[in-house]
Amino acid sequence: MPFKLRFHEDHTTGLVAICDVCGQIAMGDDANILWRPSGDEKPGDCHPYVIACRDECTRVVDLKHGHQYSQNLDVALGYLLNNTQTDLERARHTMGLLAMIG
Ligand SMILES: [Zn+2]
Repeated sequence: MPFKLRFHEDHTTGLVAICDVCGQIAMGDDANILWRPSGDEKPGDCHPYVIACRDECTRVVDLKHGHQYSQNLDVALGYLLNNTQTDLERARHTMGLLAMIG
């Protein structure tokens, strides 16, 4: 389960991404989402994926499953936000929340 809700030291609860290899919290551009297309994709197809820390954990996934397509976690989360059909005003509000969280 790559996303979990975590209770933080400041007593807030927030969604975190977990590396499927080492179990540590995956950090923005130091983590990847990895997947392997089937080769005969049709619009609407969805692919299973793993989240892995860059470098060492990503190498573990590649060695086990062959070379995977990858995208930095922070970029992938931008696509996730877009695919929730959030409008620009709501996205700006979310970015303001990110600034408040620090
Ligand atoms: Zn890892």
